[in-house]
Amino acid sequence: MTPAEQARAEAARGFMPPDEGLALWQAAAEVDPSLGPALEVGSYCGKSALYLGPALRDRGTSLMCVDHHRGSEENQEGWEWHEPDLVDPAVGKMDTLPIFRRTVHDAGLEDTVVAIVGDSPRVARLWTTPLSLLFIDGGHGEEPARLDYELWTPHVAVGGVLLIHDVFPDAADGGRPPYEQIYLPALASGLFTEESAQGSLRVLRRQ
Ligand code: SAH
Ligand code: MG
Repeated sequence: MTPAEQARAEAARGFMPPDEGLALWQAAAEVDPSLGPALEVGSYCGKSALYLGPALRDRGTSLMCVDHHRGSEENQEGWEWHEPDLVDPAVGKMDTLPIFRRTVHDAGLEDTVVAIVGDSPRVARLWTTPLSLLFIDGGHGEEPARLDYELWTPHVAVGGVLLIHDVFPDAADGGRPPYEQIYLPALASGLFTEESAQGSLRVLRRQ
């Protein structure tokens, strides 16, 4: 990652600490593009896409970014991670798509990043393309996390990687669903083995 790319990713709005962002970049830099494109669930304003995107562009592949852009439960008014300026006043709902687009444009990644605007399970049920890399950072409630595991992880190609964000084995550090509904079932399936960890990010490889 060039210093300019890194600075742009760090400056982007969102929820990705620099060390975990660099781990995203590292995993993307090592993908085998012959396995398929990469896909992230949960893009928000594009911060994680700015870590994954440059590496995937250099590997000659694409990043599909699935998000309904209406925010997760914890982003809504009255919740911990709400950002009031992201509400579309005409609609009365959050809308992160305009910032996402601007962020991807300004980073020169429009040739790599494909926005898929919609509900993650709805998109997943129509999905058939094998993935070289899957990054799950969508809804962190129990049901959304379970559905993202169930519906998206079967698409990771053998030899591909599954990246999971906000994995907190100790409940004191944060919400449990990504740990309980995605990370543990992935390991228990026998299909994935853990390759590395950085902060709350886990990198698993599909056997
Ligand atoms: N990866 C981002 C943070 C993602 S926050 C970053 O680096 O900053 C979680 C995102 O998941 C939110 O943008 C929210 O809109 C999205 N999300 C939550 N539930 C979803 C669902 N069911 N379908 C699509 N997107 C969803
Ligand atoms: Mg996250």
